Amino acid sequence: MIFSWLRERRRRSLRSGPFPEPWREALEQNVRDYRDLGQDEQATVRRYVQVFAAEKHWEGCGGLTITDEVRVTIAAQVGILVLGLGDQYFDHVLSILIYPAAYVAPGAATSSGAGVAEADSARLGEAWYRGPVVLSWTDVLAGGRRRTHGNVVYHEFAHQLDMLNGRNVDGTPPLETAQQDRRWLEVTDEEFRRLTHECAHGRHTLIDCYGATNRAEFFAVITETFLTRPHAMQELHPELYAILSEVYRQDPARRSTARR
Ligand SMILES: [Zn+2]
Repeated sequence: MIFSWLRERRRRSLRSGPFPEPWREALEQNVRDYRDLGQDEQATVRRYVQVFAAEKHWEGCGGLTITDEVRVTIAAQVGILVLGLGDQYFDHVLSILIYPAAYVAPGAATSSGAGVAEADSARLGEAWYRGPVVLSWTDVLAGGRRRTHGNVVYHEFAHQLDMLNGRNVDGTPPLETAQQDRRWLEVTDEEFRRLTHECAHGRHTLIDCYGATNRAEFFAVITETFLTRPHAMQELHPELYAILSEVYRQDPARRSTARR
């Protein structure tokens, strides 16, 4: 109780501080989705960055030096993911480890705890329950600058959302009502089945076939598609778009009319 009161007081103070100009430049240059936001949404993301950047333990690995640019670029993308979710600072994520590029993970990291390590041995990221989120800076930048349709920050923090309702990484984020729960299962069961089928037949899909790996990866990958290709998703997977819109309480297609 006291702890959460102190934490809230500290967060208020962080949010009310000035937003340094170099941070603003990092947002403009590295986080393309930030530019599509309305002014109020941008202000929300900036306040989120002030808290998230300060609260997490940031650790550079493989020779990477943590700079404000690294912290701000990652924090802002997390802030966009949870834009509609209030004060979701992922309190169970204490550390963020960043490698310069896709890295080969040390075996020890995979041996304990519930979590998700991406399938390739040269990985783009990992998410562990009460453990660190591991990211590759090269991929953080590529996604942030929208040089690819993938976004490793959205992906790994979608796994973290998935873990909020228990240790199971089962592809179901926290849902609000029994009715939403039912619709979520109906829509995602059907869409997962469809993706698995299309990928097995080598068809071109909007949703990356990595999402056909299992339900946890499906949720992380549809989250990426929802935020990076909202119009295409709305057109090709309208029910999936609608339920994601409800779950994330945001409508990225509406704000990004310029990027059709
Ligand atoms: Zn994943």
